[in-house]
Amino acid sequence: MDIVLTPETPHRFRIERRAPMRVPGVVFASEDLLPTGGAEALQQVVNVATLPGIVTASYAMPDVHWGYGFPIGGVAATDVAAGGVVSPGGVGFDISCGVRLLVTELAAEDLPPVRERLMDGLDRATPRGMRGGAVWRLTGPGQLEKLLAGGSPYAVSQGHGEERDLDRCEDGGAVSDADPGQVSARAKERGAGQVGSLGSGNHFLEVQRVAEVYDAPAAAAYGLRTGQVCVMIHCGSRGLGHQICTDHVRAMEADMARYGIEVPDRQLACAPVDSAQGRAYLGAMAAAANYGRANRQLLGDAARRVFAGVTGARLDLVYDISHNLAKVESHEVAGRRRRLCVHRKGATRALPPGHPDLPPDLRPHGQPVLIPGTMGTASYVLAGVAGGQAFFSTCHGAGRVLSRHAAVRTVPGKELRARLERQGVAVRASSWRGLAEETPEAYKDVAAVVETSEAAGLCRRVARLVPLGVVKG
Ligand code: 5GP
Ligand code: MN
Ligand code: MN
Repeated sequence: MDIVLTPETPHRFRIERRAPMRVPGVVFASEDLLPTGGAEALQQVVNVATLPGIVTASYAMPDVHWGYGFPIGGVAATDVAAGGVVSPGGVGFDISCGVRLLVTELAAEDLPPVRERLMDGLDRATPRGMRGGAVWRLTGPGQLEKLLAGGSPYAVSQGHGEERDLDRCEDGGAVSDADPGQVSARAKERGAGQVGSLGSGNHFLEVQRVAEVYDAPAAAAYGLRTGQVCVMIHCGSRGLGHQICTDHVRAMEADMARYGIEVPDRQLACAPVDSAQGRAYLGAMAAAANYGRANRQLLGDAARRVFAGVTGARLDLVYDISHNLAKVESHEVAGRRRRLCVHRKGATRALPPGHPDLPPDLRPHGQPVLIPGTMGTASYVLAGVAGGQAFFSTCHGAGRVLSRHAAVRTVPGKELRARLERQGVAVRASSWRGLAEETPEAYKDVAAVVETSEAAGLCRRVARLVPLGVVKG
């Protein structure tokens, strides 16, 4: 049955609450970006609205599309004290997948003479795809445990980066409450050989140019200037995060009846946050989040060495954020402070100016939000805004419109590479098919997504970045 969307503003649509929904659905989109009434992603917004303990609304960001259980681009918060649940499908398989942005002093006009050498260096230094391998060869199981508990600070303590990096990482580079004991042997086995590796397809390392600045004071505080060269890295927690999601979905599916929970889709398997099962998942999820953050720390550090060797330029961290995570946060709902489990899946936290969790030098401007677009168009830096909605969340990317399968039918990988090279983007791909799956046509118009996010009051634009070279997973 078609789902009815009622416009509340030009950038916000409502799905009225109807049993068994506990809250309404809210879709942030323009008319152009709005999924049609029959879209699977909208049905998923409705399904999420039935979860025990959900408060305010089941939200969809402008880049929303279908995902496992929850839509990608979905935000949902549950009230911990009122039996609120946590659902692994509300985080996704790539736990703490996210983005790291680093800047150099190098001007884009100085890049051409060294660009090919730089791209070859980054290509060699970035393990990925079927080739396997990783930056870090762990010396024993104890080291993996430390990394799961310690995240980026542990990687830095082992010589992979600078102390200053940690000031520019969400949560200082590690979430608390990681419980490596809840991570299965199989998950650890899958993760052990992948510490410092990109993964496949949608994951990338991109050399970019700051093409436009929209908010000069914020850009200056973040360290961004028009014409500067920067590096964006998108990756997550590899096989370890995937296995944790698989393990805990399975366990929760088996236990849901015992907790008296019914969901309209098995993929929404969940458990009360305040239960043994819920705590086990959150502990394992936090361990995977630390793994994902250390992974980006290692890849960023490897890129730093390549830049230093080829160009002599430093790479300074702008910020590192995750876009697949559940977090227990304090928010005001209906005039009362509550502990909420906020699921952001393919959605980014966007803390407002003045927030105490932001580093002092960034605090007046709001949290940096990093939005990858496509390897052929653009990516964006945004900032959190006062009065931010959906528990201070915004979009995470352009958002897919074509499945991987449909994307490869639109263009052969070789042809796509030739097109990108003609456009001035150097390409280092690990497979032709993987490249074609990520053709820019497979995604929504990222400019429209970020404009809509801004117009909807979720964030504001700080800078636009355009690709100069891409190392594709
Ligand atoms: P996801 O985390 O959902 O897999 O991907 C996040 C976003 O990354 C996608 O919505 C897409 O906009 C963006 N993306 C995928 N591949 C590339 C790429 O090669 N370069 C850039 N800049 N963005 C990409
Ligand atoms: Mn990912
Ligand atoms: Mn991602």
